[in-house]
Amino acid sequence: MTAFRLHLSNLLVFLVLLGAGTPAAADPRLTFEGSFVQGGLVVARTEPFALVEVDGRPTRLSPEGLFLLGFGRDADPTVEITVTFGDGGVLRRRLDVAEREFPVQRIEGLPPQQVTPDPKTLERIHAESALIRTARELDSARTDFTGGFAWPVQGTITGVFGSQRILNGEPRAPHSGVDIAAPPGTPVAAAADGVVSLIHEDMFYTGKTVLLDHGHGLASIYVHLSEIEVVEGQRVEQGTAIGKVGATGRATGPHLHWGVSLNQTRLDPELLVGPMPKTSAQ
Ligand SMILES: [Zn+2]
Repeated sequence: MTAFRLHLSNLLVFLVLLGAGTPAAADPRLTFEGSFVQGGLVVARTEPFALVEVDGRPTRLSPEGLFLLGFGRDADPTVEITVTFGDGGVLRRRLDVAEREFPVQRIEGLPPQQVTPDPKTLERIHAESALIRTARELDSARTDFTGGFAWPVQGTITGVFGSQRILNGEPRAPHSGVDIAAPPGTPVAAAADGVVSLIHEDMFYTGKTVLLDHGHGLASIYVHLSEIEVVEGQRVEQGTAIGKVGATGRATGPHLHWGVSLNQTRLDPELLVGPMPKTSAQ
């Protein structure tokens, strides 16, 4: 173990000399797995018991030295990570976050917007979105995210993350997840290990809704289900059936809307899984 530590620190000196003058010189005390890109998630590893700040905000570190970085659709072009080690040493790195282009659809000449929901419905919408927000804010010590993600259902992708419609010049909220069309009743699986943090049988927009907590503020949401097959607090593994594809809430047809978020930042689920497997129908 001592030999290993010596070896590591020699390597570090070497790397520091090699990278002198380049602020982004690699450092074996801070490594990354994932995509530094808008919508991307990165699992970072440093020394246990360090203090980590991401863009100046303290970030949860697991006992193994893991922490998460998530980049929203409109994330800044760089992220700054500051690690303060147990010996007082500080490592500061600024890393590039690649910019993406998202589909934007402009539709002009539409008839004026339909009336806004009545006060009672508005109240309901606000109460429901508060429930979802609270579930997304959960910052548990779990590290279920280390097991990775898989598609919760196989089907045709009909809506991608980040796409936006501008209706009569008014930009609408960008699409916060991925839509997968599949026959009603198709089983929906947990995309990763976790714990059910919220179920709701009838939300105005999202119908039957399930949220899973994967640890460190990483959550996934499954929306428009026809059936829910889990309960709050239930432990699930990747592949556990959590419900069935439906069209509950405001949906134009049976599909799963699948979203992933780190705290309140929406991420692109497609970046966490490989390409959609080709089904026999495709
Ligand atoms: Zn959707």
